[in-house]
Amino acid sequence: MLYLDNSATTKVDPEVYDAMLPYLLEEFGNPSSKYYPQAVNSKNAVAEARKNVADLLGVSSKEIIFTSGSTEGNNMIIKGAADYYADKGNHIITTSTEHPSVLETCRYLETKGFEVTYLPVDQFGRVSLDDFKRSFKDSTILATVIWGNNELGSLNNIKELSDYCLEQDIFFHTDATQVIGKVDINLEDFPGISFLSCSAHKFHGPKGVGCVYIKKDQYDMLTPLTPLYHGGGQENNFRSGTLAVPGIIGIGKAAELARERMTDNIKRLEENEDYLTKILKEKFSDVIAFNNDVSNKIPGILNVQFKGINNELLLKQLAPVIAASTGSACSSSKPSHVLQAIGLSLEQIRSTIRFSLSFQIYREELDVFKEL
Ligand code: PMP
Repeated sequence: MLYLDNSATTKVDPEVYDAMLPYLLEEFGNPSSKYYPQAVNSKNAVAEARKNVADLLGVSSKEIIFTSGSTEGNNMIIKGAADYYADKGNHIITTSTEHPSVLETCRYLETKGFEVTYLPVDQFGRVSLDDFKRSFKDSTILATVIWGNNELGSLNNIKELSDYCLEQDIFFHTDATQVIGKVDINLEDFPGISFLSCSAHKFHGPKGVGCVYIKKDQYDMLTPLTPLYHGGGQENNFRSGTLAVPGIIGIGKAAELARERMTDNIKRLEENEDYLTKILKEKFSDVIAFNNDVSNKIPGILNVQFKGINNELLLKQLAPVIAASTGSACSSSKPSHVLQAIGLSLEQIRSTIRFSLSFQIYREELDVFKEL
């Protein structure tokens, strides 16, 4: 079966799996304990994992806080910043094509007295710098904009948006879940990004682990936030709770591999995408329309309409040979808010399928589409 739902989740890399196993069995100690080998070894391994994640992002280890994934990360940053900076203002800027973990967090904050601007997007799901600038108010405390969209793959111009926030002295958060390992990013080039969230399972790590980047200031202090979890003070007091060591080792290894193989992986993803696009255009020329832009996007994500064909029925028919989805796995029961935001009709949305590729796929495997 050809798995083309890699934006929903990816298969754990065998090297990640091998790296994790000892931390379930022999090295099971709590990294906050002291002196005996299991504790010390797991503490050292967590430090190495943190370094690998930090190196992938181009930041320092101190700036990485482990979480259970991007849902937690997005909640942690947006609620944490809203609460901590509430005396400075109550306005948050975001976009209409964010993941539900951002949108629902913002909606929750609206019920607590915050004001949220949900910016419109262009036909490919990108926010414009002009709209972004115009939405700032005296009461703005945070802007949160997705780096790469999970349904369309479109990349927002995070550089210009975050630079503007730096100029305005406003915190900027980005949900980078879909870009890690597929877009070569170095946060040294993005001084305006104050916070970033990601999940390991989107780049061949395990599920249930992720991290947030919290920027240090010139005094080497991490930007303060109100934590979601209060307790033993782990993770610099930002995220209490015993560290999920095997998962953390997994994200560390996945980050190390992503960094080492970035160039090759991106090339492979682009080649696979080009090949699949060509087959789809030839094979389904009379019914097909692409919703995504061809450039300036995450490689490997294709968002395609099969005109006049119901997407759920098509997916069911494809399921024995090809695994794909209608869009986001997190809100698959509702018509996509992302496709609505780019102006598609319900009919167009109901005929749309997302294929999300992996660098692990061999080109020849995609020939299965020729036989449909
Ligand atoms: N943001 C984006 C853009 C995502 O694609 C996802 C996962 N679908 C999330 C956040 C949430 O990640 P997780 O389910 O791992 O918490």
